[in-house]
Amino acid sequence: MKLDSMYQDIILDHYRNPHGKGLRDGDAEVHHVNPTCGDEITLRVKLDGAKVADVSYESQGCSISQASASVLNDLVVGKTVGEAQAVQEAFLELMQSKGQGEGDEEVLEDAVAFAGVSKYPARVKCALLSWMAWKDATAQALAQNPAVND
Ligand code: ZN
Repeated sequence: MKLDSMYQDIILDHYRNPHGKGLRDGDAEVHHVNPTCGDEITLRVKLDGAKVADVSYESQGCSISQASASVLNDLVVGKTVGEAQAVQEAFLELMQSKGQGEGDEEVLEDAVAFAGVSKYPARVKCALLSWMAWKDATAQALAQNPAVND
């Protein structure tokens, strides 16, 4: 897999120093696996009203999946659920672009580093693992708290 070297550095940085790793208190917990690569994540979402108060996780697997979870934590914690869902959709769109998309850095920040990964269908699953886990956990957290509507 060949990635732009600056982007490669961003991914390796998140892999070596993952942001927000470790399990903390949450409203919902999910466990997702990516059997094609062997990546696994247990992820918890903590909501505070309509805000994403915390995303905590324990994970193992390849550098792409680990770095992606770290970037996810950076991008969604502190946002409203609606804002975070818009970021998740932008990342999903980038990952489905088959190497054509560049991503909007204003929205995706460090996640634009994964643009090159979209050329490799097997690695797209690595990059999306934590984001799909987050989407699932958030839906469960919202279901427990039907008053929150964002
Ligand atoms: Zn992987």
